[in-house]
Amino acid sequence: MQQKLKIAIQKSGRLYEDSVKLLKDCGIDVKNGINKLKTEAENFPLEIYFLRDDDIPQYVEDAVADIGIVGENVVFEKNKKVQIVEGLGFGKCRLSIAVARKDEYTGVASLQGKRIATSYPVLVENFLQSKGVKAEIHEISGSVEIAPGIGLADAIVDLVSSGSTLFMNGLKEVEVVLKSQAALIRNENLSAEQMQVLERLLFRIRAVKKAKNNKYVLLNAPNEKLEEIISLLPGMKSPTVLPLAEPGWSSVHSVLSENQFWDIIEQLKAAGAQGILVVPIEKMII
Ligand code: ATP
Ligand code: MG
Repeated sequence: MQQKLKIAIQKSGRLYEDSVKLLKDCGIDVKNGINKLKTEAENFPLEIYFLRDDDIPQYVEDAVADIGIVGENVVFEKNKKVQIVEGLGFGKCRLSIAVARKDEYTGVASLQGKRIATSYPVLVENFLQSKGVKAEIHEISGSVEIAPGIGLADAIVDLVSSGSTLFMNGLKEVEVVLKSQAALIRNENLSAEQMQVLERLLFRIRAVKKAKNNKYVLLNAPNEKLEEIISLLPGMKSPTVLPLAEPGWSSVHSVLSENQFWDIIEQLKAAGAQGILVVPIEKMII
């Protein structure tokens, strides 16, 4: 029987749902793990452990888990011997410096000698050191955003996505220390057999990621405009062109990436394309 790979994911919190969804999108059955420490996938050699995100890098270094899904912010803060294999495109946030909205902020140098509250002392220390600034770092494990309001700190360094938490606490974001997303990490000494399972998983993850970033587009084009329309489409190789029942018209199928999508659609319309359909892609293997 094939050796099982052990993956650690967050037990509950911001990464839990997207982590489980990613595995499910990869065709891996994950039985609901809430209130459970571990579960096994039935159709893939994977054992899933549900843990606190802070503990995941240590467990992966110690090979208690072979791989894990955790925010890059946690990976860099914990600084364990693990390898980042792949960014996963969810859990996006930034670790930012924030000060009271009424305070003037003139740059990192203005933090010299100040008190900074954070749950990320290592990242903050490294950042300040790289800027030649010395400050008093107070490590607190949660609700960092209230520290300035209660007189505990002059500034904070915390994770931000929309900025609404900062706003509600009378703070403003003044500097980004690190941009982060969820990442797949692995133990540094996996066996050849474990690497094989990881490669199979990665192949699926990449297909899912690619599919998310692309759309399948179908449109109708008058034949005299076909050449111009085709020139606008990147496609995987070249677009598929099929004759329509109506003479003088063709159906054109292609794949467009999310970031160029609206630009190209506008150009296609301008070039005479009609009946444009956009369809999500479930998996994409190239
Ligand atoms: P645990 O109980 O597992 O320790 P936690 O409270 O430390 O959970 P969460 O708040 O669930 O952690 O955040 C997990 C990860 O989600 C963060 O480390 C970060 O990578 C990511 N994340 C994305 N957006 C945000 C955000 N706005 N605030 C905090 N974390 C975010
Ligand atoms: Mg945590």
